[in-house]
Amino acid sequence: MPRSYVAEARRKKVAPKKERIRPVIDRLAAEHADAKIALTYSNPLELLISVMLSAQTTDVNVNKVTPALFEKYRRPEDYLAVPVEELERDIYATGFFRQKARAIRGTMQMLIEDFDGEVPSRLEDLVKLRGVARKTANVVAAELGHAQGIVVDTHVRRLSQRLGLTRNEDPVKIERDLQRVVPRSDWARFPHLLIWHGRRVCDARRPRCEDCVIEDLCPSSRLRG
Ligand code: SF4
Repeated sequence: MPRSYVAEARRKKVAPKKERIRPVIDRLAAEHADAKIALTYSNPLELLISVMLSAQTTDVNVNKVTPALFEKYRRPEDYLAVPVEELERDIYATGFFRQKARAIRGTMQMLIEDFDGEVPSRLEDLVKLRGVARKTANVVAAELGHAQGIVVDTHVRRLSQRLGLTRNEDPVKIERDLQRVVPRSDWARFPHLLIWHGRRVCDARRPRCEDCVIEDLCPSSRLRG
């Protein structure tokens, strides 16, 4: 079980979350105007493959592998046209390469058979693809302009707990809590804002509350007063 940050949200009294959410989003958006997905892709298929490869590794690592990969594999059929060992070698540096190669090939097969070779944008279709979990599906749907949920990763979990937006630990329950408070029009960008704020300011071990633009809205602030 990862460390919980729920208890930290008792340090300071703040307004109810429904009142705080608008200024939280607006201030984070102004502070992190460049917040967006860190994976490099140029079409829906490349997006899907990149997100699948990003499991258990960094986006930087994925971005090192994908230029050559996308040059070689341009259509779903291309991933099935080579021996699986060759695909494994081509994605080796992203880790868990056997598992990922199997998942990619299974997904490509389904794209060809069930979706005319196109990446679907509906969450309910995306989660049917082999090796595509809800988080991956949410990322892909949001990037394609059809956000139907809110991506919950380790940063989103930590910041949502610290901001008192959830008291849950399970990602599905955290997502449900966020969906109740975050306006739907912000579902796609909200995780990016939390992820970038988490990386730059609200560090897991040492949050820099003194430099935080939402300090006065945060019940976990370590500043006095
Ligand atoms: S850095 Fe900001 S969001 Fe994180 S705990 Fe401190 S005040 Fe809260």
